[in-house]
Amino acid sequence: RDNIAKTAIVTGASRGIGAAIARRLARDGMQLVVNYASGKAAADALVASILADGGAAIAVKANVADAGDVQALFAAAEAAFGGVDVLVNNAGIMPPALPALADTDDATFDSLFAINVKGSFHTMRQAAARLRHGGSVVNFSSSVMGLALPGYSIYGASKAAIETMTTIFAKELRGKNITVNAVAPGPTATALFLNGKTEATIERMSQMAPLARLGTPEDIAAAVAFLAGPDGRWIN
Ligand code: NDP
Repeated sequence: RDNIAKTAIVTGASRGIGAAIARRLARDGMQLVVNYASGKAAADALVASILADGGAAIAVKANVADAGDVQALFAAAEAAFGGVDVLVNNAGIMPPALPALADTDDATFDSLFAINVKGSFHTMRQAAARLRHGGSVVNFSSSVMGLALPGYSIYGASKAAIETMTTIFAKELRGKNITVNAVAPGPTATALFLNGKTEATIERMSQMAPLARLGTPEDIAAAVAFLAGPDGRWIN
């Protein structure tokens, strides 16, 4: 019952891991703000299915790279549910081509940092002022931080920035009883991972993990639900 009446914003929740997180947190009793950038139909369908299951949810369009959009996202959450307790910074991009650093153009670098890094900065800045005591923030890193695979230099750099913000933001929220963590998924079966890869590459990467399979969005949602829920209260 500890999750009842808590409100969670999940960024990039129209599909992939974010959609699974929204479904899971709603099932755990939270009120959901399903953020999306362009996938309105998918976000609306997810909200409809949460409502049909007896949950509470709204869909809110916001580009996390835009500070004004993010401010409006929090305002919409507060208007609908009276406050925000949980922020899940799931929205992120990865270039399907995975160019080597030497072949990465400025537009790719800029969009990776605008969405992955500045997007999470925008939402955490709002969260610092607006999250209710007892809340939590869950950010998204990646296993490429440890694997250091060629082709992932700029994407990995964006996740390194996330990990640094995560540890420091946790300390800066001292006194508010708000936890801040990052999850670092391995290869997970979503468009972000699958797009641009051959069957052989997907098979090879799925076998790298000791469990010899890709993660599912639900696997990741379970870790997020733990960190954002009552059992994760002493983890920073
Ligand atoms: P998907 O590509 O499947 O989904 C991405 C989601 O992010 C979509 O809902 C999309 O919304 C949203 N989004 C993209 N850009 C923006 C933006 N500017 N503002 C708001 N929302 C945006 O990705 P995954 O589910 O795979 O990835 C989720 C997170 O997990 C990312 O941070 C990723 O880096 C991380 N991750 C993923 C791994 C994997 O193997 N899949 C491994 C490690 C980490 P829309 O539909 O509107 O475009």
